[in-house]
Amino acid sequence: MSKKIKVIPCSGMGKVFGLAAREAALKAVDELVPDEAETLCLAYVMTGDEAAKDKIEGYDCITLDGCPALCAAKSAAICGGIVKEEYRVVDAFKKHRGIKAGGATTLTEDGWMVVDEIAAQIADKVKELGKEA
Ligand code: SF4
Repeated sequence: MSKKIKVIPCSGMGKVFGLAAREAALKAVDELVPDEAETLCLAYVMTGDEAAKDKIEGYDCITLDGCPALCAAKSAAICGGIVKEEYRVVDAFKKHRGIKAGGATTLTEDGWMVVDEIAAQIADKVKELGKEA
């Protein structure tokens, strides 16, 4: 089983924050820390399927959520993941008040800029956790 840190975005639909969470997770695991982290589909984890459970139970997780419901953080914990960091995507956008980030399906240039910032933070956290292991 891979010892990679699990980066799990919520599956937020209908708002830019969910899209940003998913894109930031993908950028982090595909481009910034591909050898140290991987992502998982939150819906698959929540099925309770044994194979899905094996992928998360006992592993360090970083979650990204699009709203205060914190579905990714709560779900990862319920499934036995060790949630080391709960990112709230909306907090990243608060630092850039007034920008037009895009919508549920498309990001603007400003939206991608925020996604890049979030992805960089995730990558830094992955590296930090890697040193602790
Ligand atoms: S955290 Fe919010 S945006 Fe994300 S899946 Fe849950 S309800 Fe949807």
